[in-house]
Amino acid sequence: MLRPFSRSLRNSIWALSAVALSAAIVFTALPGQALEARLNKNRPVLGDTIVVEVANVVGTDLKVSLDGKNYPTFPISNGRYRAFVPTTPLDKAGGKTIQVTDSNGQRQLPFQLGGRSFRTQRIWLPPGKDGDLGTDYEFDLVDAFKALVTPQKFWNGTFARPAKGSVTSEFGVLRYYNGVFADDYYHRGVDYGGWTGAPVYSPAGGRIALVGREADGFEIHGNTVGIDHGQGVLSIMIHLNSIDVQEGQMVQAGQKIGSIGTTGSSTGPHLHWGLYVNGAAVDPVPWRYDGFE
Ligand SMILES: [Zn+2]
Repeated sequence: MLRPFSRSLRNSIWALSAVALSAAIVFTALPGQALEARLNKNRPVLGDTIVVEVANVVGTDLKVSLDGKNYPTFPISNGRYRAFVPTTPLDKAGGKTIQVTDSNGQRQLPFQLGGRSFRTQRIWLPPGKDGDLGTDYEFDLVDAFKALVTPQKFWNGTFARPAKGSVTSEFGVLRYYNGVFADDYYHRGVDYGGWTGAPVYSPAGGRIALVGREADGFEIHGNTVGIDHGQGVLSIMIHLNSIDVQEGQMVQAGQKIGSIGTTGSSTGPHLHWGLYVNGAAVDPVPWRYDGFE
């Protein structure tokens, strides 16, 4: 279920926030020096990555936050900065406000986070099979990988399809287990069908930051490759058959990193590609069709 992603959606609206007149006097900001901030999309929906661009920053303590959580900022062109704010199917749709602050002032960026209906699955587990798979070794390595925020940016332009097969399960699918809604579950990636041994490619440039093997305790993820694209953007490829890369190795977009398998907690050969932005699994589809810089 690929969501067509119109470029017109990206038409930016500069929120040159209305500086209260009194505040302008108090801060004696010179024309053109007031903090500016904008969102790249005016109608984000659950699972979208929101881009915040900031200009005319004063001082060194720039902060971008939503609901009390700070998101890292990185310099882009012309003295501007950019932060990615991830959203997920677990977020509540509705009115939200991103705060941008520097040494000199603050900007509020109100926006509407649109709802979205995700497909649901009903899973019936036999008694006693309560998902006790997974080792501390596996969870510790995967958690450390998902927390990476590397200052360099290794990707360029849109992300490539990591496997040739068709999408068998899209991002965001929700689940009921034995009739009970699993309120912290959503499908944190996209599944591609394929035969065991079919190639898996890196969707973008990056550094291999995680290699995990079923034989070493990756009981759930199976054979796993984690790619650090930089600046808090990470791909995780799981259930692999073979792995062609080593930790620390740099890879390019389209480079083969392994092959499709059914290792770990998997019922048949497929690739699961999860795309994490600042620790949250976002919808990879906009990254494939629209691109983020
Ligand atoms: Zn999956």
